[in-house]
Amino acid sequence: MMKNVFDLTGKVAVVTGGTRGIGKGIALGLAVAGADIVLVQRSNDTSTQEEVKALGVRCEIVHCDLINLEEVKQVIPKAIEAMGSVDILVNNAGIQRRSPAVDFSEQDWDDVITVNLKSVWILCQQAGRHMVEKKSGKIINIASLVSFQGGLFVPAYTSAKGAVGQLTKALANEWSSQGVNVNAIVPGYIATEMNTALINDPVRSRQILERIPAGRWGNPEDFKGPALFLASEASNYVHGHLLAVDGGWLGR
Ligand code: NAP
Repeated sequence: MMKNVFDLTGKVAVVTGGTRGIGKGIALGLAVAGADIVLVQRSNDTSTQEEVKALGVRCEIVHCDLINLEEVKQVIPKAIEAMGSVDILVNNAGIQRRSPAVDFSEQDWDDVITVNLKSVWILCQQAGRHMVEKKSGKIINIASLVSFQGGLFVPAYTSAKGAVGQLTKALANEWSSQGVNVNAIVPGYIATEMNTALINDPVRSRQILERIPAGRWGNPEDFKGPALFLASEASNYVHGHLLAVDGGWLGR
């Protein structure tokens, strides 16, 4: 019988920001494929953990506020301690701050760059050391359309996500020959809490919808398949790729 290259049984996946939205969709998608899950989150919410466990795999929570870099440095060691190994890292958690550039505060700049870029770098480096040593691993960063485009009123977010795309390529160049795949997913416009302001703005919401070739906003379910592909053997020869999951937005 042909081997199922999408089977993640026995693999351990660390997913940041899995309490809701895209991260929750990805955690559940990897768990359905058999992976044990480590949820990295700042809240005490156990709803995702309960849904993952109901799928018959192990699921531990590592508490971490990703704005606190000393806490971030403990995440991979704690995950290895809890599960024995880390095979997959999904850097999903992120924050948004919207304001015209002339009014954008230094605090907002620092918060966005810390959570969306520096914590991603630290987690990549720590997981990468572990994965390079065992010559196996999958890292999936969550980038954005603004890894390619400028966005509007989101200068720090655009800067961070642009850098996440480049970091993905830089690490792939170093680690692809070491059995470690580093890739990114590029979400388009997804109906999650992060976009509440856009969804509630009837003009921007309509303008965005009209520009999406697929004719709908994305949802967390749309990320299960792409994340599974990049987390599994199916993508063993895919390195440094930014996979758009955007309803066709970037091609338009
Ligand atoms: P979301 O619904 O707002 O969820 C964000 C997640 O990140 C939540 O689980 C949140 O946890 C967590 N998080 C935020 N700050 C954190 C911190 N300091 N420490 C620990 N966890 C933290 O957002 P989403 O739309 O699913 O976005 C997920 C990823 O996709 C982000 O990287 C985002 O930039 C990216 N993305 C989204 C879109 C989109 O259209 N939605 C488009 C492009 C890229 P709490 O529950 O504690 O807040």
